[in-house]
Amino acid sequence: MSIDPQPQVDLSDANTLGVPSTADWYAELTNASDLPALVRWARERHLPIRALGGGSNLVLNEQVSGLTLKISIMGKTRVESDSGRLRWRLGAGESWHTTVVDLIAQGGSGIENLALIPGTVGAAPVQNIGAYGVELADCLHRVEAYDTVEQRWRRFGQQDCCFGYRDSVFKQLENRFIITAVELDLDREFQPQLTYGPLQTLASQPGLTALQVMEQVIEIRQSRLPEPIVLPNAGSFFKNPVITTEQYQMLLAEHSDLVVFEQAEGWKLAAGWLIDQCGLRGQNNADGVGCYERQALVLVNPKRASATSILAWQAHVQQAVKERFNVILEPEPRFWA
Ligand SMILES: Cc1cc2nc3c(=O)[nH]c(=O)nc-3n(C[C@H](O)[C@H](O)[C@H](O)COP(=O)(O)OP(=O)(O)OC[C@H]3O[C@@H](n4cnc5c(N)ncnc54)[C@H](O)[C@@H]3O)c2cc1C
Repeated sequence: MSIDPQPQVDLSDANTLGVPSTADWYAELTNASDLPALVRWARERHLPIRALGGGSNLVLNEQVSGLTLKISIMGKTRVESDSGRLRWRLGAGESWHTTVVDLIAQGGSGIENLALIPGTVGAAPVQNIGAYGVELADCLHRVEAYDTVEQRWRRFGQQDCCFGYRDSVFKQLENRFIITAVELDLDREFQPQLTYGPLQTLASQPGLTALQVMEQVIEIRQSRLPEPIVLPNAGSFFKNPVITTEQYQMLLAEHSDLVVFEQAEGWKLAAGWLIDQCGLRGQNNADGVGCYERQALVLVNPKRASATSILAWQAHVQQAVKERFNVILEPEPRFWA
């Protein structure tokens, strides 16, 4: 094996919530061909294996068990496509945002609304990243991954990924598949997606380009979301809950100002609004963990408190929303123990 896992590696700067944490075992993977041997190494010792990208969607325990594999496989190449779209093959360790900027500069479009989402390309299919009316699923062609259970390489076409709202087979069968490469199909002809409120003003702009939409998205995000390096956070901490028509009508009878979006699968409530209504925006606990003052959905950790404190605040928010609206909030980040 060309990489030796290292014991007791500090992960405190490897997660955007800034939680102090140590991995029992850690290895950085730059070459996909080293993966089978690393998986065998962990399996022989009965250790769990986890893929780590940019750590922007994680709550880490003080001690993380098993083998943490930092995915640093790079590469960005144009490949042949029979779909009429522009296809790129990307290493899982590439930065997602840099990839968006590069592919737009090379004439592709379709991912401009997903600019400035932190993290890696390899993590993007895991929760089917989405923003401003666009999801990764819209442009994903294929995922290549190593199956740590069957210990063999697998390829997933778009349909095989079972994408849903912040969901996929990779999230459902958590830690089973380690993604090493992703292929994206981008549009040659720009078809703007401007349904999201603040982007609608662009609709009347003559000769609008994907680059201009991307720049607008970046500006909006910078004005609303705290920079993890300045104020540790993991973006939206809860998923927007989807409820049935019956639940929706009951809630509407009590809260006429309910913020809700109609979806094919039901009614999607704005989790940030629910938390706001409970008076939790800008509130925090003794360790400083709390809801961001400009967006209640973002949990912030200014003093780099532990997972215990974060989970306690999570439970506090969930309970407040449950009591007031009878709605259960599901956290978006994954918890590693
Ligand atoms: C300020 C901020 C804003 C955000 N905005 C958005 C947003 O608008 N939309 C959105 O969808 N998300 C958003 N996020 C969440 C996060 O950026 C995304 O979920 C991102 O895809 C996580 O990437 P990562 O590399 O940091 O993954 P990590 O946090 O390292 O890992 C997240 C999960 O993916 C798994 N994983 C990571 N890499 C791989 C791999 N190669 N193979 C298999 N599994 C893997 C991990 O095991 C873990 O379960 C935001 C986060 C922050 C901090």
